[in-house]
Amino acid sequence: MRPSNLFPLFADVTALKGVGPGVRKALKRLVGISDALPGLRGGPEAKGPMVRDLLFHLPSGLVDRRYTSPLMTAPEGVTATFVVTVDEHIPPGGGKYGARGRPYKITCSDESGGTITLVFFNPRGDYLEKMLPVGAKRVISGKTEKFDYHLQMTHPDIIAPVEELEDIKRVEPVYPLTQGISNRQLTKLMQQVEKRIPDLPEWIERRYLSQQYWRNWKQAMVSIHHPQSEKELLAEDLSRQRLAFDELLANQLALGLVRERTKKKPGYPIRGSNVMRHKTLKELPFALTSGQDRVLAEIDEDMASGNRMIRLLQGDVGSGKTVVALLAMLRVVENGKQAGLMVPTEILGRQHFAFIESIASKVGVRVALLTGSIKGKQRAELLGAIEMGLVDIVIGTHALFQEKIVFKDLALIVVDEQHRFGVAQRLALTAKGKSPHLLLMTATPIPRSLTMTFYGDMDSSLLTEKPSGRPKIDTRAIPLSRAEEVIAGLKRVIGSGNKVYWICPLIEENTEENNFALDLAAAEARHREFSQRFGDVVGLMHGRMKGDDREKVMSGFVGNQYDILVATTVVEVGVDVPDATIIVIEHAERFGLAQLHQLRGRVGRSDKPSTCILLYTDKCGDIAKERLRVIRETDDGFRIAEEDLRLRGSGEILGTKQSGMPEFHFANILQQGELLRAARDDVKMILQNDAELKTPRGEALRTLLYLFEYDETIRFLHSG
Ligand code: ADP
Ligand code: MG
Repeated sequence: MRPSNLFPLFADVTALKGVGPGVRKALKRLVGISDALPGLRGGPEAKGPMVRDLLFHLPSGLVDRRYTSPLMTAPEGVTATFVVTVDEHIPPGGGKYGARGRPYKITCSDESGGTITLVFFNPRGDYLEKMLPVGAKRVISGKTEKFDYHLQMTHPDIIAPVEELEDIKRVEPVYPLTQGISNRQLTKLMQQVEKRIPDLPEWIERRYLSQQYWRNWKQAMVSIHHPQSEKELLAEDLSRQRLAFDELLANQLALGLVRERTKKKPGYPIRGSNVMRHKTLKELPFALTSGQDRVLAEIDEDMASGNRMIRLLQGDVGSGKTVVALLAMLRVVENGKQAGLMVPTEILGRQHFAFIESIASKVGVRVALLTGSIKGKQRAELLGAIEMGLVDIVIGTHALFQEKIVFKDLALIVVDEQHRFGVAQRLALTAKGKSPHLLLMTATPIPRSLTMTFYGDMDSSLLTEKPSGRPKIDTRAIPLSRAEEVIAGLKRVIGSGNKVYWICPLIEENTEENNFALDLAAAEARHREFSQRFGDVVGLMHGRMKGDDREKVMSGFVGNQYDILVATTVVEVGVDVPDATIIVIEHAERFGLAQLHQLRGRVGRSDKPSTCILLYTDKCGDIAKERLRVIRETDDGFRIAEEDLRLRGSGEILGTKQSGMPEFHFANILQQGELLRAARDDVKMILQNDAELKTPRGEALRTLLYLFEYDETIRFLHSG
């Protein structure tokens, strides 16, 4: 059970004053609830957002609003806060300048006798009359300008009653925002959040804590939300370090605990007759690569050993993991047992089902697809068949596997596209009772130095080569100014039976105007434009669409309905559309390396030559250019991951979101390798001395695990 002192943090955000359904929706988008930690709160449709999610949403910048001066002597070009009296409204209408597009002006003054003109473009309705009535005293804060020697301020950041002066005249944290929530609003919510921060027992070892000059958790948490200088925003800041360490400690401990329990578990000894395998290999339209052979041998050996297999299979996009999974599952079936394949989305499930069923049916293996859309009687029948052992291989989404499905004799679970899910939680979930073998597959290669962070000391297999006969994807960088030529060329492409992905720009999340709405608008505009030019063969897919609708569009693209798919970056992982031979990525310079690599992997999935076109603007920085160079030079996912690490090391801040790696809130493992090592060493000691977490420090560590939502690993600790 979650300790009660954490309750204030694990309340829904609507517990905060000023959060209704509208704001809640914006906050949900803001903290990225659906992607960040699915599964933990009961399936990919995660609950929340919770107060804790806001607490873990950190400022990315700051504005110093402490400066003030009499208006008479105020300089230009500074961020300043003034108390002023509103003198006069000068609307743009009327007079000889009454044309549209001219600003609305309001003049104000203070006791020094100085004046300032506030300038507004396109103000909405009577907003200004309400906010700045003539004669009223107001606090305004923003950047000063001079125009004709006269002081002015265009769109003040803050207009507020005088009572709020003290609250405004300080260093204001600047948070990453999303549509529907302003920085001021969020900062105010954070004040409420802060009041809920509990005192928690210290889980860091005393000596280490004082060696590092770290404060306690609560102090660090408060301080991270109140940066006083740019320096405090960097990874070296002591509060940031402490919180990063906490996060890494929780992560390593969760992995360690699960690993301790699982590695000693006996597993089903699986020794195949190879009858089904041989038949299957004959049915396949290709021969296995030597890499696939090698990985299969490793899996076979694990499963035959009598111990439980927990193996990670890292293989680049298109390296042929599905067939490996199939052959591993068949071996289990040969032993008269069942296997399950967990996939992140329904469409991927259907795709795997189509492939696996087409082959397995020929060798007498019974395959079933279990998705959310199978309901009622049909579902009950299917579940019954699984329980009676009438089905050999079950393919389903992760969420479904979390429900109670009763297998007659489940001996192997394969998890596809592992990186979207927390490893520790996943292991804990499958570690109860009789333990099936586990094969985790991921297409996100990560540098070797980081594998440990995410997977602990799990056994791992690598598929480094691609099936031969695959032509290399021709990758070109073309300036955006030549986009028209590229578009004109699409006509010919789709005329010859090929398909095209068109990926629309990712818009930086950092400011209020640049939000997802713009992402969407850009994609919609492209879609409209293309529909006019190419007719109704153009599909549109974006993150705001519901899962069902998205799957419909994707099916249309897999099938005959669409030749061009305009999409934001939500294009499903792992989906195989062999006819897709061109992918165009607009504003490629805004994407991270791993993301570019994943996107490019959508094409080149048949023996047809494929092309990836990176449309970029010249205005991008050196590191962005370097990224484009790397992606053109190589399609080796492991090398790309290493280069990514190197480029990040050189200082550019890119969210971990874009790295394709699982997300941390506080830790930047690319810059904080030291802390990771320390956490790992610490966990080793803990597991040696206090594996049950029974000492006072052990108790505190349990709280830490709950704080970071490793609930499953703790429950597992109890059940032993
Ligand atoms: P991923 O590792 O990204 O999941 P898939 O399993 O989807 O890759 O395989 C990509 C494509 O390569 C599929 O169309 C699959 O049938 C094909 N493929 C897999 N193994 C081989 C092979 N040994 N030779 C040729 N094609 C293969
Ligand atoms: Mg795959």
